Amino acid sequence: MHTADEADALRDSIPQADGRRIAVVGAGFIGTELASHYVAAGAEVVLVGRSSMPLVGALGAEISPRLATMQRARTDARLGAAVRAITPTGARARLALSDGSFVEVDAVILAHGAGPATSWAGAPDGIRVDDRLRGPEGGWYAAGSAAYIASGGARLTTDHWDAAVAQGRHAARTILHDFMGGEDPGPYRSTTGFILSAFGTTIAARGMRHPDGSERAASWPIDPPRPDAVLTEFADADGAVTGIAGFNAGPAVVRAASAIA
Ligand SMILES: Cc1cc2nc3c(=O)[nH]c(=O)nc-3n(C[C@H](O)[C@H](O)[C@H](O)COP(=O)(O)OP(=O)(O)OC[C@H]3O[C@@H](n4cnc5c(N)ncnc54)[C@H](O)[C@@H]3O)c2cc1C
Repeated sequence: MHTADEADALRDSIPQADGRRIAVVGAGFIGTELASHYVAAGAEVVLVGRSSMPLVGALGAEISPRLATMQRARTDARLGAAVRAITPTGARARLALSDGSFVEVDAVILAHGAGPATSWAGAPDGIRVDDRLRGPEGGWYAAGSAAYIASGGARLTTDHWDAAVAQGRHAARTILHDFMGGEDPGPYRSTTGFILSAFGTTIAARGMRHPDGSERAASWPIDPPRPDAVLTEFADADGAVTGIAGFNAGPAVVRAASAIA
């Protein structure tokens, strides 16, 4: 789904879901939000996710299990199972899952990620950039979904609207530095945010969870307090805060984001 027409078509399908059984393949941001809309419309949703810890790479080990609990409470969640095959059976479809089970549904929605369209650049997996967002050869710069920063063995990506804008700005400052003698902007650090809103719960985050870093409970007060709220702080190997994530703690995430180095 990339165009407005595609978004309209998907939205128009939601009221028709009442009383139907729908498989949503992918238990990440898009899959969870779609599942929430279909459940609200009266559908029975089978939510299939490859990991038993959904979005743990972005949200950490405290919030991911809470997301999984919510998904299990509101859908027929099959977490830790991959789809092996989808077979049409008349007007319905049959999914074969890696745990050996089969699921019969009226419709299947695929929400299992997006890939960069960068084959034309000789980089089908995305354009590798350094921490200033310079590409592999002189004169190349990349930002947004097309780019990834190689850090050790990890690929650092923040595939969100605000991150794409912030990276474009940072790449432009690097270009001014490289060609016009402007100030070195320094390494790009994500401080932008994203939100997952589903089943009456809001998961909000700023910055990012570094794959080689650590996480801990943030010491910031959660205001307004909620018994189920969680606030997690991510740090890099040196202990500098790289990101904040909150489960039903949106305002606290915004305040705590000032700690991101
Ligand atoms: C279904 C869906 C829902 C999303 N929801 C959210 C959300 O709620 N919040 C959020 O923060 N992010 C969301 N995202 C992620 C967000 O859309 C991306 O992170 C963001 O669009 C990246 O911006 P970009 O400019 O790097 O790439 P894009 O927005 O993908 O723009 C790339 C543009 O380049 C064009 N292009 C591609 N190849 C060529 C070429 N060879 N020559 C010329 N032009 C080319 C494309 O047509 C496109 O217009 C969502 C993504 C998807 C797919």
